[in-house]
Amino acid sequence: MDTKTASKYLSVTLQYIFPEICPACGNTFPLGSLLCQDCHASVYDSEKSSACPTCGNLMSDGECQYCKTREVFYSQKCNGGEYSGARKALFRLAKFHKSRKALSLLKPFLFAAIEECGTSGNQILLPVPSRHNLVRTMVREWKLIQPDIQIVNALKKKARKKEQKQKERRDRFAELLGSFTLEESLSPDKQYILVDDVATTGATLNEIARTLHEEAGIPRENIRAMSLLQNRQQSATHQRFL
Ligand SMILES: [Zn+2]
Ligand SMILES: [Zn+2]
Repeated sequence: MDTKTASKYLSVTLQYIFPEICPACGNTFPLGSLLCQDCHASVYDSEKSSACPTCGNLMSDGECQYCKTREVFYSQKCNGGEYSGARKALFRLAKFHKSRKALSLLKPFLFAAIEECGTSGNQILLPVPSRHNLVRTMVREWKLIQPDIQIVNALKKKARKKEQKQKERRDRFAELLGSFTLEESLSPDKQYILVDDVATTGATLNEIARTLHEEAGIPRENIRAMSLLQNRQQSATHQRFL
């Protein structure tokens, strides 16, 4: 038996001895794919929940618990789909394990978000700073299909002191206030799209939009916010999430 045949036998045998655990549902399945068959099939299922048109969160009693008490500094929030189940698992594989396969399965959500934002190609994309490469990869993919767009890495997250962090941890919104700055001057007349990977309350995107408004005088109508996926939380748990 040659090496190739031997390794083929070995991998077939291994599939039965060490099946993988599906990161979405926890069931076991044979080696070689990202998710079990059921979860894989559910990635593109349609969604049922009714969401707030401003931030994309779940509404209760017809109103959004987040948006009813805050000023929103962007004019539109778009996302490609809900951050849950199999999609959430794929997203985590793409973000934290740099899985290219997972990323390519998530691409339709990026394109759906772009379509929802109704981009013309003349906009400036401002990626939300992140330690991970996912947002950067996303905007590069976007530029491939709309070469006219500009990507400007103008946003910077300010470093915070440890004591300050501990003090503010209780209130996510207070913690975010003043946490971003602009490293380049931006014209108030252009159209901007803030790009993030997952949004929950839209607090980060709104704080960045506020910074654009305060530091560069960019009006609300010229700022749109986009996330690849939307994590839908219902009221009061928001302080633990971005
Ligand atoms: Zn599964
Ligand atoms: Zn809302």
